[in-house]
Amino acid sequence: MRVSNPVSNAAETAPIAPAEPEGVHASVGRSDLIRIALIGVAAAMIGSRVWSAFGHPHMLGAVAVAVGGYPIFREAVRDIAHRRMTMELSMTIALVAALAISETLTALLITGFVLAAEVLEDLTVSRGRRAISRLLDFLPRHASLRSGDTLLDTPVDELRAGDRILVVPGSCIPVDGTVMDGESSVDQAALTGESRPVDVTVGDHVLAGSINRSGALDVEVERVGPDTTFGRIVEAVEHASERRAPIQKIADRLAGYLVYCAIAAAGLTFAMTRDPRATISVIIVAGACGVAAGTPLAILGAIGRAARFGAIIKGGIYLEALWSLDTVVLDKTGTLTFGDLRLKTLYPSSGASGTELLEAAAIAESRSEHPIGRAIVAHATRRGLTVREPVRFSYTPGQGVRATCSGEDILVGTSEFVTGGRFVDPLAEASGSTTVFVVRGGRFLGSLALADVPRPEAQQAIAALHALGIKTYLFTGDTPAATEHMARELAVDHFETGLLPDEKASRVRALAKRRRVAMVGDGVNDAPALMAATVGVAMGSGTDVAKESADIVLIGDDLLKFVDTLRLARRTRNTIIQNFVGTVVVDAVGIGLAAAGFLTPVMAAFIHVASELLFILNAARLVPGPARNTGP
Ligand code: ADP
Ligand code: MG
Repeated sequence: MRVSNPVSNAAETAPIAPAEPEGVHASVGRSDLIRIALIGVAAAMIGSRVWSAFGHPHMLGAVAVAVGGYPIFREAVRDIAHRRMTMELSMTIALVAALAISETLTALLITGFVLAAEVLEDLTVSRGRRAISRLLDFLPRHASLRSGDTLLDTPVDELRAGDRILVVPGSCIPVDGTVMDGESSVDQAALTGESRPVDVTVGDHVLAGSINRSGALDVEVERVGPDTTFGRIVEAVEHASERRAPIQKIADRLAGYLVYCAIAAAGLTFAMTRDPRATISVIIVAGACGVAAGTPLAILGAIGRAARFGAIIKGGIYLEALWSLDTVVLDKTGTLTFGDLRLKTLYPSSGASGTELLEAAAIAESRSEHPIGRAIVAHATRRGLTVREPVRFSYTPGQGVRATCSGEDILVGTSEFVTGGRFVDPLAEASGSTTVFVVRGGRFLGSLALADVPRPEAQQAIAALHALGIKTYLFTGDTPAATEHMARELAVDHFETGLLPDEKASRVRALAKRRRVAMVGDGVNDAPALMAATVGVAMGSGTDVAKESADIVLIGDDLLKFVDTLRLARRTRNTIIQNFVGTVVVDAVGIGLAAAGFLTPVMAAFIHVASELLFILNAARLVPGPARNTGP
């Protein structure tokens, strides 16, 4: 029932916590008060009926309204002090007016209706909030720490990176870490919404919040608490209401104007008809909660729902940006592909051996996080080469790496970066796969071709984006030869190759001037473009820089979940617009009928309360149901 003043209330926090602007304590007091008042008013209604048989119902009724309406009046007084126009204020005016013309039973009924509506609204909105805060209670607080041969029951916050814990079957994994012993299947539904269990064994990564289904696992702790993927989700969702969607401000304004309009219409009605009951009905009939409380509820509900299926939206503002999106730019390696490259072919130059080539590349890449680097090092290790540590190492995103070993500089990367574009290997180019070039101590050693596998859902996701009327672009730092085939297969609308990170960002920025652009990426090289886009979307398995720079993170790396998020955003917009239009129509028709004398104040109150609840419930449909994955 809280409707904010369009002028003075712009900076107030979202009324998603409508019951507690002064903190939890005030909220408990308020909703209890409302419930007690409601019972009191009901009793008074019966009482005044009985008493009316004896002829003097008025005094008792007035006292009952004054007492029962106390929560409403208290709010109204506070609103006057803050100089904001609210529904409580207009209801207070209506109640005082009703009492003034001896419409006691009417005043009682209205008080009862308004209180009942507040109780129901509180229940709905707090259910929405609870659905989201329940996410927090999900992680276990204790873990079994291995200390020598014994297991110590340790609070999770006291675990450090490098500790080893035992996770028994059926329990929730408390940390992000690596499996050191055992095998099992884990269910990551709480994180990714994907309920099909994933098999894990020694060396695999597990995430806090997943359920260990079958075997005991020894896990080496990597991240704890707020640093885990799960912790980030919770944090993002908790802070989501701070980055309000611009539409919330519009909603607050609209709600404020509706109250003003109702009061103006009431003034006009009284001036023209001199009918106090019609005037009161005009004030009472106009509601605005479907807009004021329904909008933030819809947005928070959608953010909670997206979190359930593994899309972390860092604020309502990004959800709103998503619903008007018309362009999606996708990075290639790690986004459209798994980024899990395999070294396919070595092309040593004449005078160099394959081993020499591979060894040099592996030395330079030994500290690299890039999928290309990892593939080269993994291949060298499989071939049994011992990879020496380089002394200096530097990475130029989108181009390659440079390292020094035994006084020699080794460069691995694009032809431009390594040889100034002088060498292009026709054979490797023709292979249609990602190619990197290697120079050691000024000597060109040859090139390496790496194959990458497109994500199986990439094609379907792109088709779904097109069906939603969205244009798709593929931007990559890779060569045309390595990109063309995939771009055609995936049927993206446009693709651009050989883009350095800054160029990716400036291309995205240029697009974002004319269109509403989402950039989806995973790498260090994508971070500037993620920030340049209207909305940045990072893959959950991507680098930390990408996830920090992004506004939305796809935990499970599933591109179809991005499409789902987009659909959810559009549905949220539709819900909000339905509530806007519905409220304005109900209010306008109601005011018209009331002014013409067709509505008694009680009928007006009923229309107000019923329509508002309808709109709140409409918004509440976006709130996710109870968590599916509550563990054993
Ligand atoms: P994408 O835009 O497809 O994600 P990147 O921008 O990360 O690709 O890389 C673009 C190109 O830069 C790669 O195709 C490769 O030639 C070169 N490159 C980037 N990082 C490395 C690296 N660590 N080692 C060798 N080459 C690299
Ligand atoms: Mg990438």
